[in-house]
Amino acid sequence: MKPRRVAVLGAGIMGSATALFLARRGAQVALYDAAAAPFSGASRWNEGKIHLGFLYAADPSLRTAQRVLPGGLAFRPLMEELLGCPLRNITESEDTVLLHRDSVVSAAGMRTYFESLTALIRSHPAAGDYLVDISDARVTELSEREVGQIADPAFVSAGFVVPERSLSTRWVADRFIDSLAAEKGIESQMATRVLGVDARDGGMQGPFWVKTDVGTDGPYDVVVNALWEGRPRIDASLGIQQDHELSHRYRLALFIETRQRVETPSAVLCTGAFGDVKNYNGRELYVSWYPTGLLASGEAIDPPLLPQLDASERKALTDDIFSQLGRIIPSVSRIEEDATEIRLEGGWVFARGRGDLNDPESTLHQRDRIGIKRLGSYFSIDTGKYSVAPWLALQVAEAIVD
Ligand SMILES: Cc1cc2nc3c(=O)[nH]c(=O)nc-3n(C[C@H](O)[C@H](O)[C@H](O)COP(=O)(O)OP(=O)(O)OC[C@H]3O[C@@H](n4cnc5c(N)ncnc54)[C@H](O)[C@@H]3O)c2cc1C
Repeated sequence: MKPRRVAVLGAGIMGSATALFLARRGAQVALYDAAAAPFSGASRWNEGKIHLGFLYAADPSLRTAQRVLPGGLAFRPLMEELLGCPLRNITESEDTVLLHRDSVVSAAGMRTYFESLTALIRSHPAAGDYLVDISDARVTELSEREVGQIADPAFVSAGFVVPERSLSTRWVADRFIDSLAAEKGIESQMATRVLGVDARDGGMQGPFWVKTDVGTDGPYDVVVNALWEGRPRIDASLGIQQDHELSHRYRLALFIETRQRVETPSAVLCTGAFGDVKNYNGRELYVSWYPTGLLASGEAIDPPLLPQLDASERKALTDDIFSQLGRIIPSVSRIEEDATEIRLEGGWVFARGRGDLNDPESTLHQRDRIGIKRLGSYFSIDTGKYSVAPWLALQVAEAIVD
């Protein structure tokens, strides 16, 4: 049988994982991206939380948690298969969730949510596969004194240690680039902007042609649209309209290296438009303050244009992120003192939801409607979260090759 010719659009974690799974199953893959190299956007510059659902207490139905949990638990084994090595730079300790006094979820609501989520995790057969074994997952509520040792009680009313972890996505990005380059079944089409997909007369069963800024390629038996912020526009080129509300937000955060170990705990302020700090290995850290880092947002099919920042504007944003988070979590200031490199970077977040995270009614609090849409031989994937991408990619590859 002739190998299936597959065009994978987008070389972030979603497209790259799909391309690797497909090529290793014998498909002939063309991998497209507008950037000069894979993993140039959100998949390189994000915080790397491998979600179990603790961030989604504003969805007490647990639907979001149920959606992200299997992908989070499958992340480590699938990534180790894809990259051919054990994962590194996983946060050394569990996350601390700090309840901000302006949170959209109350302390009682958060306790109840965490209890239900912990029960869900413990009963999951794959709980032992997470970044660390969490088959005995538990949440510990911090005393007032313990909260005060991490954060200013004027802003924070409660704290919980939860079993969630993160990993450095920069390290993952570099390993992925090596794995893609080593895979003979993948033809890399970088620096190529996709403008549309043409199904000509075959309809959604293919064959397909991919129209780019450098020409038209094809025929392909299958197309996988993993373009994240660019995905709705390419779906529309085939007449597929988004039948739901959507939003694009471009988020910046700080990616830091320090000259010596710093002991700041990984802590996230919940639930709303606040910030967090991630300490991957003592010397590589992430710091964000959501309102300052939100560079652009829009609700149209295409993402809005990004403002160009000059050096002084970038410096002002960097200083503001440190100072906003540092006034609540004072140890963040020590990270700045010990920093040898501070990069202000980020990426797009596409969401099937809208509104302000400080509004309990915002549909951004529900992330359960993410995943794969299939029309014949055309697949369009709303990744939703970095943490679920390998799990979704395997499903797409198996559907294509089988
Ligand atoms: C600051 C920040 C923090 C985050 N934290 C977390 C977290 O802790 N945990 C988590 O699970 N998720 C997190 N996310 C979300 C996560 O980064 C994304 O869900 C994930 O990286 C999306 O992967 P992707 O491959 O779909 O998209 P991307 O990595 O964005 O890849 C899409 C690619 O498509 C390319 N592209 C787009 N349009 C076109 C076009 N027309 N032609 C050619 N190429 C095109 C882009 O260049 C890009 O390389 C965070 C995001 C941000 C920005």
